[in-house]
Amino acid sequence: MQKLLRTLRAHLEHEMASQGPLVPLDTPSSPSSPPPTDAPDDTMANYDLFGNKVDPAEDPSLPPPERIMALIPDDAPYKSMEKLEDVESWMQDEVLIPIDEERENVVFGTGDPEADLVIIGEAPGADEDKQGEPFVGRAGQLLNKILDAINFEREEVYITNILKSRPPRNRNPREEERDAHLPLLYKQLALIDPAIILCVGKVAANTLLDRSSSLSSLRGKEHDFYGIPVIATYHPAALLRNPNWKRPTWEDVKLLRTRYDQLTD
Ligand code: URA
Repeated sequence: MQKLLRTLRAHLEHEMASQGPLVPLDTPSSPSSPPPTDAPDDTMANYDLFGNKVDPAEDPSLPPPERIMALIPDDAPYKSMEKLEDVESWMQDEVLIPIDEERENVVFGTGDPEADLVIIGEAPGADEDKQGEPFVGRAGQLLNKILDAINFEREEVYITNILKSRPPRNRNPREEERDAHLPLLYKQLALIDPAIILCVGKVAANTLLDRSSSLSSLRGKEHDFYGIPVIATYHPAALLRNPNWKRPTWEDVKLLRTRYDQLTD
């Protein structure tokens, strides 16, 4: 219901931004109809004061899914798909980059396809590659505890990664690998339309937000991804290595819970 209301509100805001607050009552044949102008006749598009078409991704009056869809290349075969499972099965046989050939399983994502919270990690590890599910190893168990501490069931959120295939020896994702798989994440976000996103780790946050910042400068505040609030915190694997980061992580996830409650109320 909350999601429906948010979508409706975004659409109304879009209509008001592009057409003004009043719905014109006169029909095209009415004598009081305004004379035709030479404005561009693409009624779906927004134009700036100078008649230039506004990139839908950069148009804050559009709802987030429409903005995010504009980031996906038009020739991506999954662009028009309407279900996460269809995108996932398309991915099964696809080799977009060399690591797609080496994987045991695609690790696409798991959880509620209508979740209000999406959690994004970096890339699957060995356990995830074996089971085809994100965050099932040691880091995943810690993520489950973190979720539990802020009263989320794993099943009620959606968990995924920047990369859907395991990089060998868990090395960092390469730029061309991120570029190849990122539009799939965009498609997931456009279909799920979450109220808020949590990025765990620097790679996830920097890739999604197209930045190259330290985690300490990314955390503790809210970012924006085409209309969706984003919070970044430490990766659970980093917490296993350095327990000093548990306190700031706790602050970040409390902020996440507060914002989630406000946004979904
Ligand atoms: N680390 C990640 O970033 N993702 C996983 O799925 C598992 C470990």
